[in-house]
Amino acid sequence: MSKGLTINKARDALRSRKTSAVELTRDSISNIKKSDLNAFVTVDEKGALAAAAAADQAIKNSHAQPLTGIPLAIKDVVSTKGLRTTASSKILDNYIPPFDATVIEKLKAQNAVILGKTNLDEFAMGSSTENSAYGSTLNPADKGRVPGGSSGGSAAAVAGDLCVAALGSDTGGSIRQPASLCGIYGFKPTYGRVSRNGLLAMASSLDQIGPLTKTAVDAKILFEAISGYDELDSTSHKKPPVKARPIEGLRVGLPIEYFESDGLDNSVRRSVEKGIDALKKTGCVVKEINLPASPFALAVYYIIMPVEVASNLSRFDGIKYGSSVMGYAKTLQDVYVKTRSKYFGAEAKRRIVLGTYVSSAGYYDAYYGQAQKAREAIKKEFERVFREVDVIAGPTSPTPAFKLGEKVNDPLQMYLSDIYTVPVNLAGIPSISVPVEPVDGLPVGMQLTGRFDDDATILDLAVAYENNIGGNRG
Ligand code: GLN
Repeated sequence: MSKGLTINKARDALRSRKTSAVELTRDSISNIKKSDLNAFVTVDEKGALAAAAAADQAIKNSHAQPLTGIPLAIKDVVSTKGLRTTASSKILDNYIPPFDATVIEKLKAQNAVILGKTNLDEFAMGSSTENSAYGSTLNPADKGRVPGGSSGGSAAAVAGDLCVAALGSDTGGSIRQPASLCGIYGFKPTYGRVSRNGLLAMASSLDQIGPLTKTAVDAKILFEAISGYDELDSTSHKKPPVKARPIEGLRVGLPIEYFESDGLDNSVRRSVEKGIDALKKTGCVVKEINLPASPFALAVYYIIMPVEVASNLSRFDGIKYGSSVMGYAKTLQDVYVKTRSKYFGAEAKRRIVLGTYVSSAGYYDAYYGQAQKAREAIKKEFERVFREVDVIAGPTSPTPAFKLGEKVNDPLQMYLSDIYTVPVNLAGIPSISVPVEPVDGLPVGMQLTGRFDDDATILDLAVAYENNIGGNRG
C-alpha cells in the first residue's frame, strides 16, 4: 500500500475506507523497522498509532481535513512535545521538548500522523547527512551514496516510501538539495510564511520549514497546512499571500552564470535543459538573464550564517537544557567548556569558531559588515531580475548524489553543493526543486525560484510541470 503513496492517494483511500489510518501507520512503521536507510533518529510507534486511531474516528465522523490520517515524518530539528528532539546532536541526546512547534500544532489539529523524527546533519549544518551523531543516512537510489542534506533523513524517508511526506528545514538549501539528490519535490517557502516557532534555530534570518513530497500537488497541500501568520514568530507575515499568476505566458529566466559555472556537471546540465523543455510546454516563455552577484552568495552565506549559528548555539551550555558534564566540572566556565567540547560535533565547532571570529571587534567591519552589504546587493539583483521575469529556473545542485565519505573531509567541496540554493535564502524568496531526468540512475533536480511572497505561482508552475511530464502519481 505504501509504495508510491501520495497525500492525495492516501486521502482517497482513507475516505473511501479502502484502508484505515491505523493500517497505513502500521504499514509505515513496519517498513521503517525493516529499512536500512537510517532515515529516522526516533520512531514514535505508540504516539503514531494513537494519532491514527483518532484520525480514523475523525474520518468516521466526517471531520476529515486534508492531512487527516496521513503518515508524515518530521526532521529532528522541529520540536515535538514529549517526543525526543535531538537535532542529530549528542548535546540534545535526551532532550524532550515541553511544547510543539507551531507547524506541529497545525499538523496535529488536522489529525495527521507523526511517525517519528528524521536524521539530519547536526543542527542542520551540512549537505550530506554525514554530520549526524546518529550515523549517515543512505540514498534510496544508491545506498553507497549520500541523500544530500541537511534534511537527508526526511528526503530518504519520502523517496524510500517510509512515509507519505515529510517536513524539512532550509537555511541554505537543506530541503531542495536533498530533494534533488533523492528525486523528489522539496519546497522552501518565502521567509516568514511558515512559522519558525519551535524550529531549533541554525541561522534565524535564513531558516524556513517546508515540505518534502513525492508530487508537486502534495507540496502544495502540505505548505497550505503549515503556513500562516503566527504571533510567536516575530518575522511571520501578517499580510495574506499573493494570488498565483496564470502559467500561460509566465516569463522564466535562465541565469547564464548558473549554466556556465565550472562546477556544473555536464550530465546535470543536460538533464536540467530537458526539464526546461518540459517547462516550456506548460505555456511559459524562457529567456536568458544575468545574475552576476550570485557567484558571491556562498562567500556571503559563510560569513552571515556562522555568526547566527554561534549566537544561536550559545544556549547549549550544559546548564539550561540538554547534555551536561555538570557533575564532573568545578566551575561554571568549566561546565560550559567541557560540555560544549564533548557534545558538539566537528562541523558545529567549526562554525561557532568562524562566526565568533568574523563578528568580533576588529573584524566585524571587514567581514560581517561587508557581508551584510553584499547580501543587500544580492537581494537587489533578484528584485531587478524579477522586473524582467516571473520565475528563475536552473539546476538545484551541481552534481548528482556523491559517494558516502567522498566530501566529508573537505568542507569547501561540501559547501559548493549549495551554490545555486544559497542565494535564494539570502533573499528570502520561495523556491522548489522538482525532479528531472536521472543521470545513470541517479536523481537530478531543477530549481524554480519566484518573487518574494509568490509561493503560489511557484507551486502552480511545479504542478503544471509535473502534469506535463506525466509525473503526477495521484
Ligand atoms: N548545506 C548548507 C550548510 O551546510 C545548508 C544547510 C541548511 O540549509 N540547513 O549550511
